[in-house]
Amino acid sequence: MATYVNMDQLRFLLHEVHSMEDLFRLPRYSEFDKESIDILLDSAKAWADQDWYPFYRDMDEKPAFYKDGIVYSHPQVKKVMKDAGDNGWIGMYFDREHGGAQVPHTVVNAINHILEAANNHLTGYLGLTAGSAHLITTFGTQSLIDRFVAHMLAGKWAGTMCLTEPQAGSSLSDVKTMAYPQADGSYKIKGQKIFISGGDHEAADNFVHLVLARIEGAPAGTKGISLFVVPKYLDNEGEIGAYNDVLTAGDFQKMGQRGYSTVHLVFGENDNCLGWLVGEANAGLKQMFQMMNGARIDVGMTAASTATAAYYASLQYANERPQGRRMESNGRKNPNQEPALIIEHADVRRMLLKQKSIVEGAVSLLIETAKYADFYMAGEGEEKKENQLLLELLTPMAKTFPSERGKEAIDNGLQVLGGYGFCTDFILQQYYRDVRIMSLYEGTTGIQSLDLLGRKITMENGKALQLLMAKIKQTMAEAETYDELKPYVKKLEAGLADVQTVLAKLVPLAMSGEYELFLADATIFMDLASTVVIGYQWLKMGTAAKKALVTGTGSFDQNFYESKLHTMKYYFKYELPRTKACLDTLMNEEELTIVREEEESVII
Ligand SMILES: Cc1cc2nc3c(=O)[nH]c(=O)nc-3n(C[C@H](O)[C@H](O)[C@H](O)COP(=O)(O)OP(=O)(O)OC[C@H]3O[C@@H](n4cnc5c(N)ncnc54)[C@H](O)[C@@H]3O)c2cc1C
Repeated sequence: MATYVNMDQLRFLLHEVHSMEDLFRLPRYSEFDKESIDILLDSAKAWADQDWYPFYRDMDEKPAFYKDGIVYSHPQVKKVMKDAGDNGWIGMYFDREHGGAQVPHTVVNAINHILEAANNHLTGYLGLTAGSAHLITTFGTQSLIDRFVAHMLAGKWAGTMCLTEPQAGSSLSDVKTMAYPQADGSYKIKGQKIFISGGDHEAADNFVHLVLARIEGAPAGTKGISLFVVPKYLDNEGEIGAYNDVLTAGDFQKMGQRGYSTVHLVFGENDNCLGWLVGEANAGLKQMFQMMNGARIDVGMTAASTATAAYYASLQYANERPQGRRMESNGRKNPNQEPALIIEHADVRRMLLKQKSIVEGAVSLLIETAKYADFYMAGEGEEKKENQLLLELLTPMAKTFPSERGKEAIDNGLQVLGGYGFCTDFILQQYYRDVRIMSLYEGTTGIQSLDLLGRKITMENGKALQLLMAKIKQTMAEAETYDELKPYVKKLEAGLADVQTVLAKLVPLAMSGEYELFLADATIFMDLASTVVIGYQWLKMGTAAKKALVTGTGSFDQNFYESKLHTMKYYFKYELPRTKACLDTLMNEEELTIVREEEESVII
């Protein structure tokens, strides 16, 4: 079987870079240790080898489709959902009292990396079911938990998140779906939701939709949105009951992730759709953010994992394809010599290192972000608060860097294959199509960037940024103890200074009420900040590798650690300098993208 993920790299990140053993001191995770985590990772890999990776291509070639009211899905979806339910994978991070195993989020993310690299069409079915069940256990009544959660964690009933409507995509304040209170405490739901991932298919007996809607008379905007559980079929003493007037109107046909259904739902066409309020009225969006934030990290990991699999596919090709000859010292090529493998050409090596530096940097950031999530959720006091701030600050970058730069990585992977990269006989084109969705759903790159600059950087007077700076400085201090790493510490310092320079120009704009100007280039700021943050990840990986080489205490061979140092150096030479272009644009005073009332449109 082809390589699609590197387990040594994952173990290096978990144990030697991010010391996930720190988590075991939290009472919630005290029953875990390194060995039990490694067993879980190995089981996930065995499952991925057997039931995920072999079906990746087939799910693209036989996509989900809608016919006569039914959404047909690949048979493997049913098998994986059942096995996931039977073996406790869906609810693995849930509290034990709700049927879970309290597995740390850091480990769940590492497992997702393996599964998503194997087949990114399948994970969403499980992830959304877990995320929606988790919303019910966190905010719902005991009655809602009893009615729905066990079926969901067993993989029999699927869960979804229903936010988007035709007129309300990025702007959820425009949600129009209505909820009318009934005498028995339930609500009648009426409205439409589009683009609902896993919202209908053959693999589940029932669908438990977590729906954003407005209770009749609720205030306009996001302050009037509530959250409801709306099943496709009502539950009847633990079994499936009557149809609940949730009509599937179609399945969107897509350029990628074609094995993952994406449906259009109509709630209450016959005025007969019942829903139940989750948590407080009008607090729906705030509550839904629990699921959205988790889903953002999942999407980032899916992007990083898809790009990881693409990297290994192009690496294998580069190691097998002979083409051209290397230049001799006289500046000529000898036609009588055997052709070189393309991995010997500098430009191909550059493309491979680009992919490697992006995907390994991205996975490292995602593991660190997940670790903050664990300390936030299971920690206490000031430590909990600080980890919450770090989690909030890093989440938009952890979603966006892998999605945006993962596209670029796969593009380079496809280029490594030359003309074959464009042909369907080779898998690169599928990774290229599949990764394209990641910067669109769960908040587009534009929306993530507004969140980063407009909210996360400035929240609590910049406290989250200060905390992150402290973490980065700590890594720089450790790196500086090794002469070989000193030049890279300097480069990262310069990148941090660029971020500070830009903020010193932008933040006063917000303070003087010039918000449009403040946020106009938020996406360029995202590029700048996340490029620096991945530089921090590489310095951290480089320091761990250097330490292992010097002390001889690491678990991997010398070549493994040398490869980390080499890739770190590549990142600092080739990727970090894009911060300079971002800096130039962000410091430039010309206003070319803001709408000015007095002008005719210049975009014609
Ligand atoms: C395959 C797929 C699966 C999906 N799954 C789900 C799901 O399970 N549940 C669900 O609820 N939704 C789902 N979605 C919907 C997805 O989250 C939305 O498509 C996304 O949020 C963007 O909304 P939109 O498509 O309406 O684009 P729009 O909001 O119309 O955005 C169009 C462009 O305008 C930009 N833009 C919009 N507003 C602003 C602004 N204020 N400032 C700057 N730029 C702006 C955007 O960045 C984007 O580039 C899915 C979508 C797809 C394609």
